[in-house]
Amino acid sequence: MRVLLIEDDELIAHGILAGLRAHNLTVDGVATAALAEAALSTVHWDVVILDLGLPDEDGMSLLQRLRAGGMALPVLVLTARDAVEARVAGLRAGADDYLLKPFDLSELVARLHALLRRAAGRSVDLIEHGALRLDPASGEVSLNGKAVVLSRRELALLAVLLQAHGRILSPDQLKDSLYSFSEEIESNALNVHIHHLRRKLGADVIETVRGVGYRFSMDSA
Ligand code: CA
Repeated sequence: MRVLLIEDDELIAHGILAGLRAHNLTVDGVATAALAEAALSTVHWDVVILDLGLPDEDGMSLLQRLRAGGMALPVLVLTARDAVEARVAGLRAGADDYLLKPFDLSELVARLHALLRRAAGRSVDLIEHGALRLDPASGEVSLNGKAVVLSRRELALLAVLLQAHGRILSPDQLKDSLYSFSEEIESNALNVHIHHLRRKLGADVIETVRGVGYRFSMDSA
């Protein structure tokens, strides 16, 4: 899951970025509304965390503009404004959830997973296919009831492939969901992760579609 954090307070941003990375999420942070719009138009994101008090534009008006422009991503709003009116206005502007500062990191993580689950139309936070199970919140994977240990990247790769329900994803789409802007990507890194996943879960789980990309094989498992 790739998360965009829009927050200008360096200390808070740093804490959230480090905390979400520790929870196996791919996350990038921007500090202004202008940078947020640029980031949103560049790569695929799964969920947005938005602080309402930004230096160049009020977060609420940014959100309204993005929604008017057709942005459908789930948005969790962070606010220090404890007034009911502010929350109601935020929900009207298109926020999907709210968190009041200060908040607990584990609560933020739980809510992000809940938002993604809702966006994917799942009622439980578990992705299953045949004998394969993935719990995105805990990062636990099992095959035929046996736990499989995956690295952070392998986990992210498996999640994005499973969530695509057999659709073909290009190498660039896969890399987008695996790496944040600040991370250096080695040219063969994706191949290496796919190789490891096949070794751990079975050679036929990920199908290579030559010249196009990869897809989770819905016939497998
Ligand atoms: Ca702020």
